[in-house]
Amino acid sequence: MKLIKKGIEHLTGDELDFRDRQFILLTVMVQLAIMCVFVADIILGENIVEIIVLGASAVFFPILFIILFKLKKLDLCRIIIAINAIFVVLPVCFFYGGGTRGGSLIWYSLTFFYVGIILSGKWRSIMLSCIPLTAALECYIGFKYSKLVFPHSSKMAILDTLVSVIIVGLVIYIMTSFQNLLFINENKKARMEAEKVEEMSKAQNRFFSNMSHEIRTPINTIIGFNEMILREDISEEVAEDAANIEAAGKILLHLINDILDMSKIQSGQMELAKAAYNPGDMLSEIVAMMWMRARDKELDFHVNVSPDIPAELIGDEVRIKQILINIVNNAIKYTREGSVTLTVQCGEKSGDRMNIIYTVSDTGIGIRKESLPHLFNAFRRVDEDNNRYIEGTGLGLSIVKQLVDLMGGRITVNSIYTQGSTFIVEIPQDVSGTSVIGELDMASRNILNGREAYRQKFEAPSARLLVVDDNESNLLVARKLLRATQIQIDTASSGREALELTLNNEYNVIFMDHLMPEMDGIECLRNIRAQAGGKCRETAIVALTANAGEENRQLYRKEGFDSYIEKPVSGNILERELYRLLPKELVHKIGEEEEITEESMSWMETRERKRTIAVTTESVADLPQEMLDKYGISIIEHKVVTEEGIFRDGAEIETDGLLSYMEEPDHKVSTLSPDVADHESFFANGLVSANNIIHIAISADIKNSGYPHALEAARSFGNVTVIDSRHLSSGQGLVVLKACALVEEGKSPNEIKELLEESIKKIHTSFIVNNLDFLSRAGQVSHRLANLMNVLMIRPVLVMKKGRLKVGKFYLGARERVWKRYIDSVLVPNGNIDRSILFVTYVGLTKRDKELIRSYIDERMKFDKIYFQKTTPAIAVNCGEGTFGLLFTEA
Ligand code: ADP
Repeated sequence: MKLIKKGIEHLTGDELDFRDRQFILLTVMVQLAIMCVFVADIILGENIVEIIVLGASAVFFPILFIILFKLKKLDLCRIIIAINAIFVVLPVCFFYGGGTRGGSLIWYSLTFFYVGIILSGKWRSIMLSCIPLTAALECYIGFKYSKLVFPHSSKMAILDTLVSVIIVGLVIYIMTSFQNLLFINENKKARMEAEKVEEMSKAQNRFFSNMSHEIRTPINTIIGFNEMILREDISEEVAEDAANIEAAGKILLHLINDILDMSKIQSGQMELAKAAYNPGDMLSEIVAMMWMRARDKELDFHVNVSPDIPAELIGDEVRIKQILINIVNNAIKYTREGSVTLTVQCGEKSGDRMNIIYTVSDTGIGIRKESLPHLFNAFRRVDEDNNRYIEGTGLGLSIVKQLVDLMGGRITVNSIYTQGSTFIVEIPQDVSGTSVIGELDMASRNILNGREAYRQKFEAPSARLLVVDDNESNLLVARKLLRATQIQIDTASSGREALELTLNNEYNVIFMDHLMPEMDGIECLRNIRAQAGGKCRETAIVALTANAGEENRQLYRKEGFDSYIEKPVSGNILERELYRLLPKELVHKIGEEEEITEESMSWMETRERKRTIAVTTESVADLPQEMLDKYGISIIEHKVVTEEGIFRDGAEIETDGLLSYMEEPDHKVSTLSPDVADHESFFANGLVSANNIIHIAISADIKNSGYPHALEAARSFGNVTVIDSRHLSSGQGLVVLKACALVEEGKSPNEIKELLEESIKKIHTSFIVNNLDFLSRAGQVSHRLANLMNVLMIRPVLVMKKGRLKVGKFYLGARERVWKRYIDSVLVPNGNIDRSILFVTYVGLTKRDKELIRSYIDERMKFDKIYFQKTTPAIAVNCGEGTFGLLFTEA
């Protein structure tokens, strides 16, 4: 009884996992089935051997099970039981229970079901395959050697089959019912767990939200009173202390906002608003705020907004502002001198959705390559030694990344340590209407920021203001901050008190706190609006609250507030809001509004659109200038090292001159690929006019390839993809052209990378060289091979195979004859050749040589275009005069 109770506890409790509970139940059921058969066999008078084996199993299995269960070796137990069932119990029941003339084969189905459920992995596969095999073997033996089978009478055969069908059917029915029950229970449990987690995350969110409110209220007092101190005629020392208090207050506020956002994102409760906004206004606000910070640090601030940005976008303006402010703020924070540039342009458009691309570049301290992967981790500040004195928490970029992800956008970072960084944010937004923002005119926009040094804007001695707040300090702050305006201020410290005042007094504006005991701000607003005989039913009411965030802004708008001001407030913000809401006849303006001057900010003249992807490459031999120009392909040059100095390939040295220089035996010449730093500045340069770079490098398996350097440099950039062309600088041009075609098709960098891999395999590159001297000098083939070729007067053909240069064929004889044979062997008329383009790259050929080669080619095969390209000096150094190559793509 105790055992049964314990068994039921195990089955229904949480102690064991689902699989173990299933195993226990199935084994108990099978055990019961065995016992039933055991009893039935005795009643029916079955063979004694079968009865003994069944009886032994009925005793052995439970004992084995209990022992292994105690030893926590249930997996071993499963295997032993399965082996025993398949190789002992079933064969005995078969041979001693009438063979095919009985119910034993029905028990095979139950075993199949049982083993399939209790075992897993390779044991399940092995055992499941053994079942039909043993069944088949037994049937075969039973058929062949019928004497081995203990026969059943017809009556016995029917009875045995009937009993087996009933017992096996019952066991399967009970087992599946229990499976169902377990499944429903597990589902219920999972749902309950999910609800619990949701409840916990809601509680956490409530906690952070309340905490944020509670902390904001005292900060409001600190910042407000501090502003009053700053306005007084105070000594320099006190002013400095007050400025420090102000700075610390702002940091604290920033931190609270960040923590609140972080908790919201992590609990999955960050919801994005979807409303129409004007990106021009949004950018102007950001620029106004950031420009001042840049000016304080004497940095130039450039803004370059493409005029074709739609005038109305639909999305979460507040969060986009937060993203941009964070990034621009970092750019200013981490730049000591130079400039910060914000560029905004349109990306791809599909239907009503358009990618808006914001790029923020700075000339600041830069970020080390190894730090780039950790940049977006929460609480992670990189390069702490350098940034120790720059305030920050390491939360900003993590929030930025998560917000961008939530919006379905992408953020990439390019940075060269000590030189500067570029953050590129792409955010897809819905476009409403067809109008565009055009040229942004900052001066005509009201873009003043509330946090600049206080400047009084107006006086309104006959206007009346009511401030409602349960916190006395807040009331005092508002009173003091607005003192200079001479506006008449009444205060109420509860909703009830406010209603008493609004019944008899006419106010022009009411500032209303939200969270107050008894009657909160929303309820108070409703009561004022509906107050019978009240004098403020139409008055503008502004929510003045420590509840930050877009949801709250929307809540207040929905509830009928005329405006919303977040605490802590400043004199400027309060005054601006009052100025907007007060009747103009009551307001007397003082001074001019500050205008943004051009002294440290410029709207860039160049409004050139950045390309989505630029293709770049290293010293390419086969592309003519017209193609480089057509696709805007930039080349990073190799260097040619001579006794006279180091020269940039092609740009500072030219092929014929170099070849005649090399005729002097003591003139040593070698080539050098551009190093990591060269690549870094090359990529940085390219990214000024493009958002992504596909860089195609010379085969990594070739000595002096720029590939490893390019790859290392690309680690500094989130949007530079380096591709190993698997070809030399000849042949590589075809890869570059293919990449350009894919860019034109609108493929993404990742797609291009994938597709190029296939195209690269189809490019054929081969050269015929006069001799191997140059190549052996350049370390591309061995000296021994070169000498042997010279002695035998053999002209070899070199072929690119799997990224390496291999000697393909050898030709003996006069130059021209050899050339023809080379051309005939490469351009096979029924071969698989794309006839649209053929490149012929050469070193040191005369006009006549070229005409001859051209005529050989024309005789052999027609191409739409054939380009003869003289290689750059770096390649001439490697192959020497009299070399030419045929480069084409397979169809
Ligand atoms: P923090 O509050 O420390 O600025 P962020 O999450 O905004 O936190 O940034 C994380 C780290 O990334 C910073 O500590 C800084 O080291 C680095 N960083 C961010 N932006 C720049 C930039 N424009 N230039 C150089 N370093 C930057």
